[in-house]
Formats: sequence, C-alpha cells, structure tokens
Amino acid sequence: MTKLAERIERVKKSIASACARSSREPEDVKLVIVTKSAGIEEIEEVVRLGFNHLGENRVLQLKKVAGQLAEFLQQHADDETLPKEIHWHMIGHLQRNKVRQVLATTSLIHSVDTLRLAEEINAAAGKLNLRPRVLLQVNTSNEPQKYGVPVGAATHLAEQIETLPHLRLIGLMTMAPLTRDQDVIRACFMRARELFYEVQGEKIVGSEFTELSMGMSSDYEIAIEEGATILRIGSAIFAGS
Ligand SMILES: *Cc1c(COP(=O)(O)O)cnc(C)c1O
Repeated sequence: MTKLAERIERVKKSIASACARSSREPEDVKLVIVTKSAGIEEIEEVVRLGFNHLGENRVLQLKKVAGQLAEFLQQHADDETLPKEIHWHMIGHLQRNKVRQVLATTSLIHSVDTLRLAEEINAAAGKLNLRPRVLLQVNTSNEPQKYGVPVGAATHLAEQIETLPHLRLIGLMTMAPLTRDQDVIRACFMRARELFYEVQGEKIVGSEFTELSMGMSSDYEIAIEEGATILRIGSAIFAGS
C-alpha cells in the first residue's frame, strides 16, 4: 500500500469510529477529498482508489485539475475500475465574475453567502439551462474576517435563495476557526446543526435540504459527532508527500 492509500485508509477508519461513537452510519457521511495541495499524480491515485468527490477552493485551479482529470479518465476509458466521472465541489469563496466558469464543472457549490452571489448563479444557470446545487455558507465562529453569512441572517437569506428558480439550496456549510480549543470548534458545529434544523423545521426549504458540510483534517471527527453529512479533507491525506 502506498503512503497515500494508507493515509486515506486511516482517515476512513477515524470516520468509522466517529460514526460508531455517535450512532451514525458511515454511508451517511460523504468524503470530499480536497486536492488544492496535491500534485496531479497524487490526485490520479486518489481517483484510482475509487474516490470521485473532489474539492478545490479556487476556480482556476478547479478548472485546470478538472480538465487534467477528464483527460486522464478519457485515456483510461477502458479501465472499468476507474470511476466514470468526477464530482467537483467548489468549496472556496466564489467571486461573481467567476460564476460562469464554475457552473460548467461543479456538482456542488459550498460557498454561497450573499444574495448577490446567489442571484448571479441563478442568472448564469438560467442561461445555461442548469440548476446547480448549492450550500449556504454560514459564519458560525463570528470572526469578522471570515466568509459566510452571519448566523442571525442565515434563515432570511435561505428564504430569499429559495425563491430563485435556477438553483437548488440543499444545505449549509461552515468552517470552524483554526484553534486547538475543541470546545470552540464544537460550538461552531453545534450552531450550524441547530441552524440546519431550524431552516428545515420552518419549512423554508424543500425536502432536498439534507446536507451539512463541515469538518476538515483537524476537526472532522468533532464534525461527525455534531451531524456533518459532508467532510472536506485535504492535508490529512496529502500532507508530507
Ligand atoms: C482547504 C480547505 C479544506 C480542507 O482543509 P484541510 O485542513 O487541508 O483538510 C476544507 N474546506 C475548505 C473551504 C478549504 O479551503
């Protein structure tokens, strides 16, 4: 087994233990492998290992790697062990002038945090005859420099986004602050989960609203315990290679 395969194996085991601790099924927690710090050979190896939900936080990098991987899959089209397609997740801050570029490639945009951005996505998607899935990014840490809608404004924004016909709001995303203080991290994830149930409960959204994207390399076990359905993990898989 390669180092990379071992690290993924280790992450999968930790996910399974966190699920067991919190009486959850591992199938209910999806792993998005964040490739921003990886080389193309490593990314190809990840795909060979059967993982096809990948994430990038910058549009240009996403387009570049998505193009390279599409070519790789095409060249190995007769290899039945490879996934047929890659699902790309745009996890970083999205500028409105980059929306069109991202729509063609992504299966889920995690970082919608203003009405203006949602409207831009809605308009571009309408023209392309698409209906992309998006998450509302919430700032649960109250750090002013962070992206994400403040918790207190999130329900109203969700309501407004729901009125846009060319996108589908399917959940929330949040990031915990960079700290070793586990209580602070857990408090952020709990806030996100409470908000998630609040939005669901007020019937602002439809039955598609099912995803809670939270948890990175340093905090994904806490995120699972607090209800994450999508993890975004990079450095725990690619570090040191
Ligand atoms: C980089 C990044 C991640 C992954 O972080 P790691 O610590 O490398 O696991 C997750 N989410 C977002 C938004 C990121 O930018």
